[in-house]
Amino acid sequence: MIRGNDPILLTPGPLTTSLETKQAMLRDWGSWDAAFNQVTLSLCRDLVDIVGGGADYVCVPLQGSGTFSVEAAIGNVVPRNGRVLVPNNGAYCARIVKICKYLNRAVVDLAVPEDQPATAAIVEAALRADPAITHVAQVHCETGAGILNDLDGIAQACRRLGKGLIVDAMSSFAALPIDVKDAPFDALIAASGKCLEGVPGMGFVIMKKSVAEGCSGNSHSLALDLADQYAYMQKTAQWRYTPPTHVVAALRAAVDQFKAEGGQPARGARYAANCATLIDGMRALGFQAYLRPEVQAPIIVTFHAPADPAYDFKTFYAKTRERGYILYPGKLTQVETFRVGCIGAIDANEMRNVVSAVAETLKDMGIRSAAPALRRAA
Ligand SMILES: *Cc1c(COP(=O)(O)O)cnc(C)c1O
Repeated sequence: MIRGNDPILLTPGPLTTSLETKQAMLRDWGSWDAAFNQVTLSLCRDLVDIVGGGADYVCVPLQGSGTFSVEAAIGNVVPRNGRVLVPNNGAYCARIVKICKYLNRAVVDLAVPEDQPATAAIVEAALRADPAITHVAQVHCETGAGILNDLDGIAQACRRLGKGLIVDAMSSFAALPIDVKDAPFDALIAASGKCLEGVPGMGFVIMKKSVAEGCSGNSHSLALDLADQYAYMQKTAQWRYTPPTHVVAALRAAVDQFKAEGGQPARGARYAANCATLIDGMRALGFQAYLRPEVQAPIIVTFHAPADPAYDFKTFYAKTRERGYILYPGKLTQVETFRVGCIGAIDANEMRNVVSAVAETLKDMGIRSAAPALRRAA
C-alpha cells in the first residue's frame, strides 16, 4: 500500500485511509446528477445491511462530523417531552448529556466508572427506578477510554421495558458485531471517517423505518432534521442541501474495500490483531494499559503515562510524530494517560513499527522505565 510520506494516524478518526479511497476523491460530482444519487442510495443500502436491518430499517445520511448526527438523532427520535437515560462512562457519553441539555430534553446522567462497562443490570435498575424515562442513549464503544459497553444486553433490557434506544456506534460500526436481531434499536449513529475507513465529513443514522416516518416535527433544527432529510431523499434520491460529494464517493470506495476484505468479521479480526500486537509490544516496554483486557474494545487503547519525570506528552507526541506516527492525548479525568488507535487502513506491521518508534522516543527522552505511577487495582 503506497502512502507517500504521510504520517500514520493512530487516532480515532480521521484515520489512515487506503490509496483507493483517496483516489476516489479525484473527481467532481453534481449533487443532483443521477450517477451521484445512485452512489448515495447504494451506500445507504450497504450501511443498513451491515447491521442486518433488512426492510425494517433505513439509513439517513447527514452532512457534518459524527456529533452532528448524534445531535440530529437525539433531536429527532426523542420527543420534546421525552426523558433520556445516559449511562455515562466517558467523554462521548458526557457529550450526549450536553446535547440533551442544549436541546432541552430531560436527561438522567447515570455515572458509571470510566473503567467499568455499562451493563444491562445497571441500565435496567435505572429504568425501573425512574419509569418516566422514555429513551436510553447508549455509546457502544466509549472512545474516551476505549471501553466496550454491553450493547446487546442493554438493547434487550430496553425492549423488555418498552424504552426507545439510541446507539452511538461511531467507533464500533463495521468493526464490532452489531445486529438488529440481537440489539434492536430505534436509531444508531456512525460516520464516514471511523471503522469504515472513509474520510471525515458525513455521519448517518440507521433508523427503524417506523421511527424515521413517525418523528417529523420533533427536530429543533432545520439543518439537522432527519425526518425531513429522509422524506426528501425518498422523494428525490437527493440530499437536502449540498452533499459532501467527495466524502460520499470516498465512502463508497471504502465500503467496497470493506466488503472485499470480508465485512465486519474480517475488519474486526484485523483490528483485534492490531490491538493485541500493540498491547504486547507496549507491555514489553513497560507500559500498562488502563483497561482490563476483558472490557478493552479493539479500537483504541489508553495507556498510563510513564511515572518517569523525564516524560511529558507534548515531547513524546512530537518525537513519535517525527518518526511517522500520530498518537492521541488521553481523555480521562483522574489519571494521566495517552491513547493509541488500532483502526484505519493499517495492519499489525504498523503496530510493531509504532512500538519501535515509541522505544526510540523513550531512549531519546532519557526515560528508563515506562512503568506508570499507579498500578491498576487487581
Ligand atoms: C468520534 C466519535 C464521535 C463523533 O465525533 P466527531 O468528532 O463529531 O466526529 C461520537 N461518538 C463516539 C463514540 C466517537 O468515537
